[in-house]
Amino acid sequence: MRKKIVAGNWKMNTDAVSSKVLADIIVEGVKRQPVSAELILCPPFISLESICETLWSRGSKIKLGAQNMHYEDNGAFTGEISHTMLKSAGCEYVIIGHSERRRYFGETEETVNKRAVKSLQNNILPIVCIGETLAERQSDKTFDVLNTQIQGGLANISIEEAAKIIIAYEPVWAIGTGVNASPAQAEESHAFIRLELAKMFNPQTAESIPILYGGSVTAANARDLFAQKNVDGGLIGGASLNAESFLAIARSF
Ligand code: PEP
Repeated sequence: MRKKIVAGNWKMNTDAVSSKVLADIIVEGVKRQPVSAELILCPPFISLESICETLWSRGSKIKLGAQNMHYEDNGAFTGEISHTMLKSAGCEYVIIGHSERRRYFGETEETVNKRAVKSLQNNILPIVCIGETLAERQSDKTFDVLNTQIQGGLANISIEEAAKIIIAYEPVWAIGTGVNASPAQAEESHAFIRLELAKMFNPQTAESIPILYGGSVTAANARDLFAQKNVDGGLIGGASLNAESFLAIARSF
């Protein structure tokens, strides 16, 4: 049985106060009515420590993730954040290679790979994001793109390390657009990704890797998406900024 996971990517939203309030409400909601899926909150960097304190002081099982991480250990990299910093703030997960980072901040397969390798070496588990643009889907290149992103992003990773990875399939055309992939489209891509993982590592490892779907997931469409054989949960953007909708999505298995 693969782990079911629902992760909230808060992106560049909330501030020091409102992020703590949001985390508080989610923690309380889970206390009132436990969820079977593992929940991961990925707030902005400045809120990691205070939310870690909230989770710890309430004995919550909810995990903490960052939205990015640099691949160097430390040094003259103004504005970047290291694995040591994330660890010290209580992070167990990190989102790597989100399409917004690829599109606006020059992330390449090479830098995605360096970040993934560094996070695994330092026991921060990467949520590696992959997915095609609308133009790529329309020109029948979805599988080629996914293949390139898997081969590039997961290069130099051992089988033992691969078993710790989470993949997020996030078609770029579905992110923040209100147009989600249909359950059939998601399942087709997830099954392809798992097949590629089996070729790259081995079938047993591929079977154990959670593959999350991301892209306009809401409380209304989560159940159908999560019911697909190879969809193990979701990476949620917009809908994770509202505790009620995030919790409803988390209960959609
Ligand atoms: C995301 O950015 O990871 C995402 C899935 O966003 P949204 O849910 O808003 O489409």
